[in-house]
Amino acid sequence: MSHHKVVVIGTGPAGYTAALYTSRANLAPLVFEGVQPGGQLTITTEVENFPGFRNGIAGPALMDEMREQVLRFGTTIKAETVLKADLQSRPFKLTTDQGEYTADAVIIATGASAKWLGIGKDEQLSRSGGGVSACATCDGFFFRGKEIAVVGGGDTAVEEATFLTKFASKVHLIHRRDKLRASKAMQDRALQNEKIHPIWNKGVLDVLTTTLETPMGEKIEKIRALKLQDTVDGSISELAVEGLFVAIGHQPNTGLFTGQLPMDETGYLQVEKGSSRTPIEGVFACGDVQDHTYRQAITAAGSGCMAAIDAERWLTEKGLAE
Ligand code: NDP
Repeated sequence: MSHHKVVVIGTGPAGYTAALYTSRANLAPLVFEGVQPGGQLTITTEVENFPGFRNGIAGPALMDEMREQVLRFGTTIKAETVLKADLQSRPFKLTTDQGEYTADAVIIATGASAKWLGIGKDEQLSRSGGGVSACATCDGFFFRGKEIAVVGGGDTAVEEATFLTKFASKVHLIHRRDKLRASKAMQDRALQNEKIHPIWNKGVLDVLTTTLETPMGEKIEKIRALKLQDTVDGSISELAVEGLFVAIGHQPNTGLFTGQLPMDETGYLQVEKGSSRTPIEGVFACGDVQDHTYRQAITAAGSGCMAAIDAERWLTEKGLAE
């Protein structure tokens, strides 16, 4: 079992910034990448609001830069996923898919993941390649020339719908209200796009499928239409589409800490106001896993810096930094 002064869980902007600051403080952090190395920005397109890139930068490129930067200062990155975190023992014990580790301090930067509609079929088809996805950047290419739908009314939905017009022949933007939540600039850009067709006041009740047979004789279930319900008059309708992108927000990745750390009603970790400290001394949280308000790359990075400084001060206070 290898021991480390600081373990960082997660490699989004929060995790990398925590690693940057702790490595530059000579704490030689160990970072676990998790199931989505680089975090949510690796599945986004252009990032235009991260300071320092006046022409914008692609999400994956920004994360590559952050990764190289932390490696330069002596961070160890492991392509492992933490499966169990024992925060009651000292040092803390972490079990990954490949080994066991101990740590004096733990920085949680596990972020958040895309939400599904709660109808089962959408998530199931996304796993089986049935034409449903929560990532336009990853899967948009498969829908060249096809008529598809995006569900949601926030920045993600509008951004994804706009991006998908590069491939699809038509993009229906389905929203459960008659007003988008997305920022005005992004809304204007999307609604002026001829390929985007907004559908207001509709919820997705079901994903209807058809079964196709591949040349190898394999049967695959593919989306053929959506069953929609009007949120005002309750009427039911069908919309024929060959693809569905679900963009209705995210949920924090806090399952590892259930019963160990306090969470709010939606599962976000709670930290001491104005700091990254959790109620367990030596455990710090940063980024989207503890922030349902701002959820920006820059705020995640800022809170990663706070967690690193909090961890360093705590380790020094306890005589564990040397
Ligand atoms: P949001 O929480 O902002 O929006 C979620 C959208 O999905 C809302 O319109 C909501 O409807 C709708 N929704 C939620 N649940 C359901 C459901 N079960 N069925 C149908 N619709 C549903 O999430 P986003 O991912 O869009 O954005 C998260 C954060 O990231 C925001 O702060 C955003 O500004 C930021 N962001 C910034 C980007 C950029 O600047 N380039 C790009 C992407 C995101 P309702 O409106 O009725 O609540």
